[in-house]
Amino acid sequence: MCDVTACGICGHHEFINIIDLGDQPLAERESESYPLSLIQCVNCSLVQLSYMVDNTEVFPKNHPYTTGNTAALRDHFAFLAKRLSFFLRPDDLVVDIGANDGTLLELVRDNRSDVRVHAVEPTNQATKCRAKNIPVDQEFFTRKLGMKMYEYFGAAKIITATNVLAHVPDPHDFMSGVYELLSSDGLFITENHDWSSIEYGLQIDTIYHEHLRYYSIASLSYLLSVHDFNIVDVEKIRTHGGSFRVYARKVPARSLEERAGKVRDKLDKLLDRLTGDGNTIYGIGATTRATPLIHYAGLGASIDCVCEVAGSEKIGQNIPGTVIPIVDEQCLFDDQPEYALLLSWHIADSIMPKLRARGYTGKFIIPLPEPRIVDG
Ligand SMILES: [Zn+2]
Repeated sequence: MCDVTACGICGHHEFINIIDLGDQPLAERESESYPLSLIQCVNCSLVQLSYMVDNTEVFPKNHPYTTGNTAALRDHFAFLAKRLSFFLRPDDLVVDIGANDGTLLELVRDNRSDVRVHAVEPTNQATKCRAKNIPVDQEFFTRKLGMKMYEYFGAAKIITATNVLAHVPDPHDFMSGVYELLSSDGLFITENHDWSSIEYGLQIDTIYHEHLRYYSIASLSYLLSVHDFNIVDVEKIRTHGGSFRVYARKVPARSLEERAGKVRDKLDKLLDRLTGDGNTIYGIGATTRATPLIHYAGLGASIDCVCEVAGSEKIGQNIPGTVIPIVDEQCLFDDQPEYALLLSWHIADSIMPKLRARGYTGKFIIPLPEPRIVDG
C-alpha cells in the first residue's frame, strides 16, 4: 500500500487533483478503509488513484466477480469473439489475460474450433476455465509469464485484455509481457472504461480501489507507444456505461519503404521468370490503384495489356505514363494468356470465380501483400 508519487505510465511527479471521495473500504468485500481520490498526470494525462492498495488484497484468490453471470457482458463477448474469428487461421493461439471464468475464450472456441486458446487468470475463477477445458495459468500476467508462455506455446496471434489494464500494478511490465508473447503480425486488443464517460457522465460510482487507472484514448496510446505498439483501430463500446476497445499492432521492425522494396523485387523477379519462360501476362483491372503499382514495380515490360470490363471509358487508352494499352476484357477469354495479374487484388476472391465462370483457363497472379500464383 502506498501513496502514488509517480505517474503509473510516464513517471512524472506533477498531478492535478480531480476528486476526493474520502476513505472507503474495498468495493467488493469487507476491509479496512483506504483513501479514495483521483489525480491526473500533467504530462501524459493519465487519471489514476492517489493511493494504491496491494494487488493481492484487492484481487484475492476468492475474488467473487464472474463474467459469465452478466448477460450483457456475455453478449458483448459473443460479438467480440465473432470479430476475432476473422483474424485467425488454424492452430493460431489466442490468449485472454484476466480471462475470469473463460467466457470470451469459450466463445472464441465456439466460433473457431481449429485455434488454440489459453487463459491467464489469477483468481479462483481459473477453476471455471479448467472446467471448460481451457488451459489456464493461475497467476498475474507479467513479462516473465509472457516469456514463459512464448517458450511453451509459441507466439500468440491475438492477445485480449478486457478491463485489465486499469487494474495491473505495473502496466509497463504487463505491456512488455504482451510484446514478448505477441507474434509480429499479431493483434493486441484491450477494452477499458473511458475516462470521458466518467468525467462527462458523472460515473463517480465507478471509482474504487480495484481501478487504479482511468484511461482515455490519449493516455492509453501514450502507454502503447512506449512499448512500440501502434493503435490501428478504436471502437466506442457500451460496456460499463462507456468504454473503448483498442486494436494495436507492434511497430513493424522494418520501414514500409524497406518492406515495399522487398515485395517489389519479388514481384519483379516472378514476372521476369514467367515472361522469360515464354509466358504471356495480362493485367486485370485498370483502376486508380493499378497505376502506382505498375510504375513502382516497373511492370510495364512484363504485361501486354490491362483488361477492363466491357463499356469502360478507359478502353482504348493507355495506363497513365506508360504505353500499356487498356483493352476490353473479352481479350482475356479470346487470347487465354497463361497468367492474369490481378491489379485489383484486394477483391481477388470475387474476381477469380467470375473470370473462371466466363472461361479463363490460365493462372492468376496476386501481387500484394506477398506475390503469389493462384490456380483457383
Ligand atoms: Zn503521466
